[in-house]
Amino acid sequence: MNIEKTVAYTPKKLEQLPVMEQFATLQGEGYHSGRAAYFIRLGGCDIGCVWCDVKESWTDDHPKQSLDDLLTNIYASKIKFAVITGGEPCMYDLNEMCKRFRKYNIEMAIETSGAYPITGKWHWICLSPKKFKAPLTESLEIANELKVIVFNKSDFKWAEEHAAKVSSDCLLYLQPEWDKKEEMLPLIIDYIKENPKWRLSNQTHKYIDIP
Ligand code: SF4
Repeated sequence: MNIEKTVAYTPKKLEQLPVMEQFATLQGEGYHSGRAAYFIRLGGCDIGCVWCDVKESWTDDHPKQSLDDLLTNIYASKIKFAVITGGEPCMYDLNEMCKRFRKYNIEMAIETSGAYPITGKWHWICLSPKKFKAPLTESLEIANELKVIVFNKSDFKWAEEHAAKVSSDCLLYLQPEWDKKEEMLPLIIDYIKENPKWRLSNQTHKYIDIP
């Protein structure tokens, strides 16, 4: 991975966005798990998680797609629920995307680390904080779902620190990091039994081998 190729924060209003991949699938994680979703993965991320499973998304040299083309692709599927992910999608100003897609009755969800301001009007904000770049307080406050990836035991304390910063109706999820799941899943189950405000999120798409 050429770190120098990762993008700097440029919250420009873009008619075209670097899209690493887009596909119709079932959401595998969190609150909307099991639901048909049209994923749009934007390229560009400077967060640098060591366990990142989509390092190809770190650069922004992916083919640019216009908002209209993306909308056409969504409409070609029967799915009217778009999940904008990355990379770190909040490195871009997504106001225009939300405005345009919502006009055509697309339900809009975003997955972000919260490290950059969240632009646009979203039906659902899933914030998954990363240790490598702290989330903004204002992003935590508007999250609908806090999803903490548990990589080691100390992450429970870290999860609680973030749970204290979200709104009272924000849903709280603990998700085992995929390569540590054998070790972490039993700890998470025990933790949730003791702290029932939390829920389990599994990467179900990986278990059933879909994108
Ligand atoms: Fe990978 Fe997401 Fe972390 Fe970026 S924020 S490095 S895309 S896991």
